[in-house]
Amino acid sequence: MNYQSFLIKYGEIGIKGKNRYLFEDALVNQIRFALKDVDGTFHVRKTDGRIFAEADGAFDHDGAVEALSKVFGIVRFCPVKVIADEGFEALSEAVCAHIEETYEKKDFSFKVETRRARKNYPKQSMEVNADLGERILETFPETRVDVHTPEVRIHVEIRNEISIYSQEIEGPCGMPVGTSGKAMLLLSGGIDSPVAGYMTAKRGVTIEAVYFHAPPYTSDRAKQKVIDLAKIISVYTGPMKLYVVNFTDIQLAIYEHCPHDELTIIMRRFMMQIAEHFAKADDCLGLITGESIGQVASQTMQALFCTDDAATLPVYRPLIAFDKQDIVHLSEQIGTYETSILPYEDCCTIFVAKHPVTKPRLERIVLSEQKLDGIVEPLVEKALADVEIVEI
Ligand code: ATP
Ligand code: MG
Repeated sequence: MNYQSFLIKYGEIGIKGKNRYLFEDALVNQIRFALKDVDGTFHVRKTDGRIFAEADGAFDHDGAVEALSKVFGIVRFCPVKVIADEGFEALSEAVCAHIEETYEKKDFSFKVETRRARKNYPKQSMEVNADLGERILETFPETRVDVHTPEVRIHVEIRNEISIYSQEIEGPCGMPVGTSGKAMLLLSGGIDSPVAGYMTAKRGVTIEAVYFHAPPYTSDRAKQKVIDLAKIISVYTGPMKLYVVNFTDIQLAIYEHCPHDELTIIMRRFMMQIAEHFAKADDCLGLITGESIGQVASQTMQALFCTDDAATLPVYRPLIAFDKQDIVHLSEQIGTYETSILPYEDCCTIFVAKHPVTKPRLERIVLSEQKLDGIVEPLVEKALADVEIVEI
């Protein structure tokens, strides 16, 4: 029985009592989801306050490592060799084989750390440490022992089976998705909103998304781009529901009846209202946008004040204090950048004013919106009724 598995280590701050189960169960679910598309069959289980992902037979090791490195809640994970207990001789051979396979250069210092969870094992932990250490030194004379600050810690855990591991790979940290409620992401085809969704999901929040398009002013390619962005972030966030709202008639009405320098703000306020409708129907506790103070005219403090007023749910803006450069950097890291910069038209850019207000006043905006009374309500009703839902 020589199979490979991964030992998953997670942060334990604030996850005592009942929360611990919720945290672990959500993490197990997310790990299963992440490994679903990796070649191989995996069994994910929690035992003794640990989570293991065990491979049943051959599997794509690099693919599994990549998938696990995207699961929020994982602090570190270790590739583990699991062997049956067939005596100390077999154990030392397995440990030396593990070193042989894992380290190309053997001139490192090491320490063996044995945990004997099965107390009837014939050797004490200290004895296993010493005897295995001796065997490693004999087999790899370039190595040396350092019990204080070793370069490599070789862990041996003795239960019914014996686990051997020495490598730790960094996870993304954060909280497993599914532990912090749900929120609705306003997802455009830009650089910012996918990053905002990623960051919120990293705190354990389940994400749904809404995209406003304006056919025929925006094309199917622009819509496909948003679907592609949703797919990229769903690798981190898990499956997602994407509401695609036809915004054309509302936008045309605003364009026709409202001052052009206020178009973007008024449009954004309608987006908030519509997003909130679907958010509330799905028990979301907030809205998420990719806005950041001062990035464009519609994101000054005054503009954000006006936008916020249109929503009753809290609006989360994880990028609020980020420079564009930092957002670009993050989007490159999570893999959305290349898709975000594809040059397809956005519904906001088509109806954009030459000189948008940078310091809108809410009273004036509300007055302007009154020009839409009796006109826009049926258009909003129709947009809500005709929504297309894409399961990502
Ligand atoms: P992004 O890069 O996310 O598109 P941006 O810097 O281009 O943002 P705006 O176009 O002003 O900024 O949009 C601000 C925010 O409003 C976006 O981050 C997004 O959350 C939301 N938003 C804008 N346009 C749309 C749209 N067509 N569909 C859904 N949400 C949108
Ligand atoms: Mg945009």
